[in-house]
Amino acid sequence: MNKKKIVVLTGAGISAESGIKTFRDSDGLWEEYRVEEVATYDAWLRNQELVLEFYNKRRRQLATVEPNAAHKALARLEEKFDVQIVTQNVDDLHERGGSTKILHIHGELVKVRSTGDENLVYNVGYKDVNKGDLCEKGFQLRPNIVWFGEAVPLIERAAELVMEADIMLVIGTSMVVYPAAGLIHYTPSHCKKYLIDPNSTPTRGISNLEVIAEKAGTAVPRLVDELLASN
Ligand code: NAD
Repeated sequence: MNKKKIVVLTGAGISAESGIKTFRDSDGLWEEYRVEEVATYDAWLRNQELVLEFYNKRRRQLATVEPNAAHKALARLEEKFDVQIVTQNVDDLHERGGSTKILHIHGELVKVRSTGDENLVYNVGYKDVNKGDLCEKGFQLRPNIVWFGEAVPLIERAAELVMEADIMLVIGTSMVVYPAAGLIHYTPSHCKKYLIDPNSTPTRGISNLEVIAEKAGTAVPRLVDELLASN
């Protein structure tokens, strides 16, 4: 028998209990930086050193944190379900938590790409990347991150995946960063939806939805146990 499909949309909140800050929870600052200074294409044009240093710090931090109970519980769901993670996060905590199908719609910290040929993508792990570090064709390397204001090329693939979901979990996202926030509207009518976030997020017009206003580290393992027991 075909396994039921679960699509899990995650945002910065799922990694908060691992020690990676969401920026919406910290007065508009992201790890002491203004987002416009470090995570936009304009910022890159203005000051490449500052942008590269910001992402170097994020990579160094990533090397020191661990997946939490929520990341690990999602990996357990694969015992009985066909699970697809669609994450807005740029960390690698889903991978390290054991999930196997992960679409990073906002890019990945552990990768960089050429500014002259976007198909040249390199794995850098947790290493620093500096001004003067070039791709094999001689162009400066940039973080492989979708900055604010840039197109989100994987959003169509994400929407296709959501259209096939029997169950959708939305975890730790404020539902205000578009286009990701619109994905829940692509679910088929039979799809049961769960929203896990301790703070209220806009849910108007979403049917068949259960809101669990709790932290991911507590609520996700419990929900995973319930889903595994009911299938
Ligand atoms: P967001 O818009 O997804 O908002 C964070 C949400 O997490 C909030 O709604 C908050 O209530 C919730 N939250 C906080 N603690 C939680 C917990 N313990 N359990 C469950 N939910 C919790 O994310 P953002 O911080 O506004 O970031 C927007 C974008 O910036 C992201 O989509 C991502 O591209 C990038 N970002 C990535 C990371 C990461 O990779 N870990 C961290 C910060 C920002």
